[in-house]
Amino acid sequence: MKNNQIHIIGGGIIGLCSAWYLRQEGFDVTIIDKTDLSDGCSHGNAGMIVPSHFVPLAVPGVISKGIRWMFNPKSPFYIKPRLNADLMQWLWRFYQSCTLEKAEKSMPILLNFNQWSLALYEEFSKNKAFDFGFEKKGLLMLYKDKKAAAEEKEVAEKAHELGLNPQILSQSAVQALEKNIDLDILGGIYYQEDGHLYPNLFIKQLIEALKKQGVSFLLGNAVTGFQTDKNKITAIELSNGQQVKTKKIVLASGSWSAKILKQLGVKILLQDGKGYSITLKNPRIKPSIPTILTEAKVAVTPMGNDLRIGGTLEISQLSPKINAARLAGILESMPKYYPQLKIKTPPLKEVWHGFRPCTPDGLPHIGKAKKYNNLTIATGHAMMGMSLGAATGKLVSEIITDQKTTISTDLFTPER
Ligand SMILES: Cc1cc2nc3c(=O)[nH]c(=O)nc-3n(C[C@H](O)[C@H](O)[C@H](O)COP(=O)(O)OP(=O)(O)OC[C@H]3O[C@@H](n4cnc5c(N)ncnc54)[C@H](O)[C@@H]3O)c2cc1C
Repeated sequence: MKNNQIHIIGGGIIGLCSAWYLRQEGFDVTIIDKTDLSDGCSHGNAGMIVPSHFVPLAVPGVISKGIRWMFNPKSPFYIKPRLNADLMQWLWRFYQSCTLEKAEKSMPILLNFNQWSLALYEEFSKNKAFDFGFEKKGLLMLYKDKKAAAEEKEVAEKAHELGLNPQILSQSAVQALEKNIDLDILGGIYYQEDGHLYPNLFIKQLIEALKKQGVSFLLGNAVTGFQTDKNKITAIELSNGQQVKTKKIVLASGSWSAKILKQLGVKILLQDGKGYSITLKNPRIKPSIPTILTEAKVAVTPMGNDLRIGGTLEISQLSPKINAARLAGILESMPKYYPQLKIKTPPLKEVWHGFRPCTPDGLPHIGKAKKYNNLTIATGHAMMGMSLGAATGKLVSEIITDQKTTISTDLFTPER
């Protein structure tokens, strides 16, 4: 076994981007995934690469809003009530994290992290092996009522303080940007610096490019256990009985990461935040700029000729069931903002779902595990995994090669 050998568990955006940058550092990389990598959370998401999203999920005020949403079957948020120790701990830590002080500390770091990632995606887009609909058209945060307008203006002020250049726009100013579709809104904030991409294309092209560079893929079998020797993991056990000897591991298994780490006695707090999307193929009318419908918490992204609409965050114990009421909540919100876009409910089997790996403080876990010196953890990106994917991959390669990291990782320490 070569000394520069590394195994990455999980072939979502985080695992694949880690493979890309580790390969550039000369590692002999193998990606292990229980699926064939043709679908998953990193495929059907809204593809937004967004420095404007520097506010962590856990902020003051979010709990009271969340409790109100729990009682509305069409709302964008739900936690399946259950007595489960991991969920209770997660909720308690979430509650503790909802302070202004913690949010203020996280915001500049998340902003830099997202800006770095955006620049790395731009680099990918200039590489001949890639053509994944990367564009920097910005992001519109549209609102219909005064309360949402006030909240969004407050975020825009903070964004301005941190060096972004958001524009607060009236209804007519937004309409001037979106000439081809009628808007029924009060106004919006335009974050010009943001970008977007077609995630399915990027993931497919990245897998192809990795294969060409000699990265190996062990697909179709789940990691079921490990063999260890003191503070080292020596082998990875797969569901087909195979034992894969290893020198170094990156654990990038998205919403399944906590369960896998439990087998090693490593504890991280993580819950799955299930979300849905549908992709309209070549619709006659569509907005041209990626948009969040702020009251509905629905993401709308033009991707090439298509239009993707996504939303909902349900903490549901990795249940693949599509909740028809919550899907209706997403689809019914569309004509409220775009009166010309009345969308028929598709058969539920055509609705895509993915599980966002959510940490209680809204920050990812990126760094070396305490107990094993050959294990690096990279997960917990929640609604920002696509956006932070490229920079996380680069950060993982910096951590593993003991370089000075481009951004501080203090807030991302796993097992915090
Ligand atoms: C509706 C929706 C919209 C979204 N929109 C955006 C957006 O616009 N911008 C953004 O930044 N983010 C967005 N996200 C979030 C983003 O999609 C996720 O944060 C990201 O995909 C997580 O990537 P990951 O690599 O950590 O996990 P995943 O993509 O889930 O990859 C984990 C991999 O690990 C594998 N695995 C798990 N267990 C095992 C095991 N035991 N053995 C082997 N392999 C295993 C899985 O098969 C999977 O392939 C959205 C998510 C949803 C649901």
